[in-house]
Amino acid sequence: MRPEDLLRRYLEQRREAGESELILDRLSVDEVLRIVGAVGRGAVAEVPLAQHSPVRASVSNLSIGASAPSPDASIEGSMPTSADSAIDDWRVVLRGPAAIPSAVPPPTSPVTSEDRSLGDIREQIRACTRCPLYATATNPVPGEGSSTAKLVCVGEAPGANEDQTGRPFVGPAGQLLTKILAAINLSREEVFIVNVLKHRPPGNRNPLPEEVEACRPYLTRQLEVLKPRVIVALGTFAAQTLLETKLPIGKLRGQVHEYLGIPVVVTYHPAALLRNSAWKRPTWEDVQLARRILDSPAA
Ligand code: SF4
Repeated sequence: MRPEDLLRRYLEQRREAGESELILDRLSVDEVLRIVGAVGRGAVAEVPLAQHSPVRASVSNLSIGASAPSPDASIEGSMPTSADSAIDDWRVVLRGPAAIPSAVPPPTSPVTSEDRSLGDIREQIRACTRCPLYATATNPVPGEGSSTAKLVCVGEAPGANEDQTGRPFVGPAGQLLTKILAAINLSREEVFIVNVLKHRPPGNRNPLPEEVEACRPYLTRQLEVLKPRVIVALGTFAAQTLLETKLPIGKLRGQVHEYLGIPVVVTYHPAALLRNSAWKRPTWEDVQLARRILDSPAA
């Protein structure tokens, strides 16, 4: 492997672990990646810091019991024991945008309050020209899954496989996501899988802030229509976009956040797990937390 490829892999792993600076210099990880010409997925988006506000009580049973099955076993396919304890109450450490009971989109939004169904939103995405990505992508990737999904997975943006097929998470990372969902007794058909961006950035480059803002109304509307019990943010980019924060993923994991009044659990992107199996255990813990939210009594 070429030295620059090794460096890129190392930097991407450090970034996915939540590190944003290198000791070498005052350059950030993203700046170094740009210098080596290898900015990949999962980078820190230039999004504004959120209005962080501590809210409710503590998360009980956040940690996984010692007798629980290993993450390797569960993610590789065998089923874990079902979550046996519901969350009594939550500590929502960070908030994304406040809940919007009336779901009124911003004035510049392409999605109106009349666009209630997922099909309407999908058609609007297919016709969208709000940012330049539509011109370079092969297909839009609006998202797919159950219209009654209780869990929604939010990723970053379509990759090459997704761009070709018009479906989210269909490559190796998607296959791993299917196994992760199986570890909490969910099939792909039972959840809804979506990305922040609906068209692929050329060469898998990082989404630009203006692209995220142009595309955000579609994700917001999808979540408002779906009204899931829990959102699982896959990777740094999705988490930071939903929660409007620059905090690294290491500081966002292990807590229940909130987006539009919906609990959000942050975990690693499956593509990151393919690069570093050491993140399987924390990922397994994160999805167990999401499972406990699903199993908790409805508010
Ligand atoms: S990425 Fe989003 S905003 Fe940009 S063209 Fe596609 S649907 Fe429209």
